[in-house]
Amino acid sequence: MEVVCLPRLPRAAVCGGTHGNELSGVYLVRELLKEKQKVSEKEEEGEEKSVSVQMVLANPKAMQRCRRYVDTDLNRCFTHAILNCPLSEKAPYEMIRSRDLNALLGPKGSPEAVDLVCDLHNTTANMGLCFIAYSDCDWICLHIFRHLQMQMPDIPMRYIHFDVSNKESYSLDSVGKHGFAMEIGPQPHGVVRSNIYTAMKFGVQHMLDWVRFFNSGTIFEGGFVEVFTMVKNIDYPRDSETRNITAAIHPQLQDRDFCLLHPDDPLFQTFSGETLRYKGKEPLYPFFINECAYYEKGIALSLARKRRVILPAIRVQTERERQANEEEFASEEEE
Ligand SMILES: [Zn+2]
Repeated sequence: MEVVCLPRLPRAAVCGGTHGNELSGVYLVRELLKEKQKVSEKEEEGEEKSVSVQMVLANPKAMQRCRRYVDTDLNRCFTHAILNCPLSEKAPYEMIRSRDLNALLGPKGSPEAVDLVCDLHNTTANMGLCFIAYSDCDWICLHIFRHLQMQMPDIPMRYIHFDVSNKESYSLDSVGKHGFAMEIGPQPHGVVRSNIYTAMKFGVQHMLDWVRFFNSGTIFEGGFVEVFTMVKNIDYPRDSETRNITAAIHPQLQDRDFCLLHPDDPLFQTFSGETLRYKGKEPLYPFFINECAYYEKGIALSLARKRRVILPAIRVQTERERQANEEEFASEEEE
């Protein structure tokens, strides 16, 4: 089988606190910053590292208040339109902050952008460890995911694909050349649970190990990953006048993220006790079931279709291949 050669990943970023009350990422990045401090105090100069890792606390003001955001959701502010529009002094804090982060890790879409962004999140939903990515053919992200699956067999793990083919990606991880959100739950917002924190810590360690292996020339065998592609969101039933919700997630659905939902299965239980059923025609996989932060977004749960994505074997480009590529590119430009 052919081996796909991809450019080295010399710069990675691990971000936490993009949502200020998702505390596993906040505490993990703080911890990694402490460790980095210790290492750099000890470290001999001149030692070439295979990957330089930047640790970023993305929304310090929201973290201080232990809130998701101050003015607006930071993780929706990374479209080119928002990053480049004129800003007044009264602009929402997160719109200003997204520019700082884009300057630090991007600019988005440019050759200067960091090679890989891993943005850490928590969910109140029972989702285990999920990668959320905009591409279903980014071999780097998919191979990292497969590596984590093999290294952490006890943790339920899924790869969620947000298909934005006709729209633009809007999240912090989209600033890197490659990127994904690592979303782990269940953990209430404003709370840190050691099991969730530990899963995230190992997830990040294995991810960075993978990048080091990759940069040092390891060949990663081909294989496949089950990918959950988001199909649609479902809102809560609402009162047509007050817009208040009139039902909660049905007890038979609560905590059953990624268990196939069939037509006519219970979906909601109204506050008067009635069961409302799933009216779709196709069985789909529910996730983000009863996510706390999505009440304001009008999302009670999301639904996905599962399929298998075949991965090619990959390895890093050699320096010679990289130069040959550049020369080819330059001669194309001349023609
Ligand atoms: Zn989040």
